[in-house]
Amino acid sequence: MGESVEKPWEYYENNISGTLTLVDVMRHHGCKNIIFSSSATVYGDPVEIPITENCPKGQCTNPYGWTKSMLEQVLMDIQKADSEWNVVLLRYFNPVGAHPSGRIGENPNGIPNNLMPYITQVAIGKRKELGVFGNDYPTPDGTGVRDYIHVCDLAAAHVCALQAIARRCGIGIYNVGTGHGYSVLDMVKAFVRVNGVDVPYSIKPRRAGDIATCYCNPAKAAAELGWKARYGIDDMVRDSWHWQSLNPDGYPE
Ligand code: UDP
Repeated sequence: MGESVEKPWEYYENNISGTLTLVDVMRHHGCKNIIFSSSATVYGDPVEIPITENCPKGQCTNPYGWTKSMLEQVLMDIQKADSEWNVVLLRYFNPVGAHPSGRIGENPNGIPNNLMPYITQVAIGKRKELGVFGNDYPTPDGTGVRDYIHVCDLAAAHVCALQAIARRCGIGIYNVGTGHGYSVLDMVKAFVRVNGVDVPYSIKPRRAGDIATCYCNPAKAAAELGWKARYGIDDMVRDSWHWQSLNPDGYPE
């Protein structure tokens, strides 16, 4: 998200042009089913917590978010014009964790922007300390609250979305989160407790564009897709660390 503020053209070109080209190729080959990886960022600063799918979309704080919001509209308009299309918009909350085998995990390029890869890189000794971006938010401990979701649960949501497409769902919009909000310090403490490793941190100023609290009500996905998150916060921090400790340098070239 931060990078997209510096490189708006690159983000609009890649995400918007890329998706329009993909959809064009799809329709020319009679493929009219798509699961789109959208994001909780389309809600902007949400008007209700927990966020349901009825919550209005909001002002995004960066071009990345706008591409997700705009592409949702593009895909819904395409489905409206041609009812043979099935479009499932999955609004991801905060994906973390790794495959429990420790073989597939997150290896960001350069300095991690997201919380969990930053924590794992501090724990492995690659970075000195975690900067906690703000402790004066209106949350229980003052740090930002998010709905972290294990990547394997996220993967399972896609399988359920495919099954909905097989039932010819038309348009389906779903939040993909656990429905639980954890603060930055909750995540750090869980990581330290479960993994028995140290994660030094210090409080830094707020990061531009961040909101205080973001977690969802995942009831619609449960009712319509039969999907529910099975992994909890301890599984997330354990699997993230398992991957990082087996791959201290990520996936070297
Ligand atoms: N965060 C932090 N330090 C970091 C990265 C993130 O304190 O190095 C905080 C951030 O301010 C937010 C939460 O962790 O409250 C999740 O941030 P992330 O970038 O992972 O996801 P976002 O919710 O911004 O998409």
